[in-house]
Amino acid sequence: MPTIHAFGVPAAGKPLAPLTIERREPGPHDVVIEILYCGVCHSDIHQARDEWGGGIFPMVPGHEIVGRVVRVGSAVSKFTAGNLVGVGCLVDSCRTCAPCKAGLEQFCENGWSGTYNGTEMDRKTPTYGGYSTQIVVDEAFTLRVPDGLDPAGAAPLLCAGITTYSPLRQMGCKAGDRVGVVGLGGLGHMAVKLAVAMGAEVTVLSTSRAKEADARRLGAHHFALTTGDGAFEKLRGKLDMIVDTVSAPHDYNAYLGLLRARGAMTLVGAPPSAMPVSPFALIMGGRRLVGSLIGGLPETQEMLDHCAKHGIVSDIEVIKIQQINEAYERVLKSDVRYRFVIDVASLRG
Ligand code: NAP
Ligand code: ZN
Ligand code: ZN
Repeated sequence: MPTIHAFGVPAAGKPLAPLTIERREPGPHDVVIEILYCGVCHSDIHQARDEWGGGIFPMVPGHEIVGRVVRVGSAVSKFTAGNLVGVGCLVDSCRTCAPCKAGLEQFCENGWSGTYNGTEMDRKTPTYGGYSTQIVVDEAFTLRVPDGLDPAGAAPLLCAGITTYSPLRQMGCKAGDRVGVVGLGGLGHMAVKLAVAMGAEVTVLSTSRAKEADARRLGAHHFALTTGDGAFEKLRGKLDMIVDTVSAPHDYNAYLGLLRARGAMTLVGAPPSAMPVSPFALIMGGRRLVGSLIGGLPETQEMLDHCAKHGIVSDIEVIKIQQINEAYERVLKSDVRYRFVIDVASLRG
């Protein structure tokens, strides 16, 4: 089996360090991808520090992967060597249950294979993510990166992009809708760009006054500082839908109060601890609180094509892999505009 250079976490909470991993020899349906860029998602940090529990170590994070196909298995029909491709949070699923058949692989009833911190469908072989030079993935879980998308800026679309595109679509976002985006980070800034492209009137709700100018540059129409200014009174009942991307505990009830009657708030941010929801925050106004998990393969391809059509990529700061521990600290301080992307050439050096 080929030995691959990677960066990973030897044990929960330890700093990331160089290590080597093995990738399988490609089977008939596999594509071998030389990784060019990998985005740094806040979920990488939650998992590297085992904040969600059950982490598998050593762990090589990274599920916002863009790379070039270098070889394909004999039965591969969708890709050839040289294609620019993406891999997101999933690398396999059972493919036979109802959600899988409906293209909702993220809800596979038999347990999907995460790109890292999981196992292949044999339930034994650990999966390793995109902080590495090469990955081998079944063509069914490989996405086409359309021409015209900058490969580094496209990497975060594979998680931050689909995770915000999917709830906007599920909530029926359309021109003129008043959309609130809570938290202007990696996910939040994509939610703003995507909702603006759908014609929505977008309000950013942020704890950081310093992000107001960025919010407007990204296309948001309004900005509300949630740590003062009476934002919750001013915006009461004014939003049709909210995408909540916040990674830390916060008061869901306060945000629910911003929805009009029958409005919906989708949680995509995944703070590690439980937070109380008052029944009255939902009952009054018949408001809805739902969750959303990334997106299935067909919707992820649809999102990439939509981004190519509208010229949408992530705002990124490209780093070398050797800067990853410092990058994690900066994400935790909300000091990134708005996604770190690893230039994987730094691992080959
Ligand atoms: P990120 O870049 O760190 O952005 C999170 C934002 O939340 C920050 O920029 C900040 O925005 C806000 N925030 C942080 N701490 C806060 C606090 N204590 N109170 C209020 N607001 C706070 O992270 P990300 O990569 O976008 O990921 C966000 C969350 O989504 C993470 O929990 C991640 O695990 C989760 N996630 C979920 C899915 C899914 O499928 N559901 C997929 C990917 C990621 P302001 O400075 O504007 O307040
Ligand atoms: Zn992610
Ligand atoms: Zn399934």
